[in-house]
Amino acid sequence: MPSTLIKFLVNRWTERKQTFRIPGCCELCLQPAGSAGFLCDACLQALPYSTCACSQCAEPLASPGRCGRCQSSPPAYDYGFSTFLYQPPLSLWVQAAKDHEQLVWLNRLAWLMSRSPPSTLAAADALIYIPSSRRRMLQRGYNPGEILARRTAGHLGLPLYSDALVRTGGRDQRGLTATERRRNLKQSLTHGQRRFCGEHLLIVDDVMTTGATADAAARLLKRQGAGLVGIWSLCRTPASSDKH
Ligand SMILES: [Zn+2]
Ligand SMILES: [Zn+2]
Repeated sequence: MPSTLIKFLVNRWTERKQTFRIPGCCELCLQPAGSAGFLCDACLQALPYSTCACSQCAEPLASPGRCGRCQSSPPAYDYGFSTFLYQPPLSLWVQAAKDHEQLVWLNRLAWLMSRSPPSTLAAADALIYIPSSRRRMLQRGYNPGEILARRTAGHLGLPLYSDALVRTGGRDQRGLTATERRRNLKQSLTHGQRRFCGEHLLIVDDVMTTGATADAAARLLKRQGAGLVGIWSLCRTPASSDKH
């Protein structure tokens, strides 16, 4: 499908704010939906997949390898993979799930993730998610990252450890600079009850921006005994973006 047509369809989707839907039709072009149940096969293939990125922080790159930042100052996680880039329509669907309580999108996004997992998946022992702060949970009523991880774990038949990390407080990470994110996380994210013995853990996240959250979580998990920690995000923002 031409990119101008995709842009038009995405704009139309945004205008109608996802309030209108014909069952069995593609959300983007209204053609009969394929195996996804909400997208036709052509639109499914035309989504902005992340095809070339840093093997450690998943930042989009022009050629395969590790970015300069990961080489000079490696994060605590061992590898990173993002299924998509943070672009429409993915960015709109994430916003619908996180900000407009359209939870059906979390099921669909988990399905999209589980059909394009990292190549390391077969070696992973369990999935992990980053807990929300209590205040955020009270405001929103749910943790989108947890639901995404839970659904993905279900699709893939992998255990999900919900007692590995604990969030004690802190501000919403969105809108903070990289430095503020690191400080905020250091103050609020801590280890849970679970201890590990060399396991390979895969942290599932919705949007990976600076990698600060993944770095803080991986540092804690390794201190708890994890042997290998990877990060698997639904979407990755480009390097220049400091917020989402
Ligand atoms: Zn379509
Ligand atoms: Zn990198």
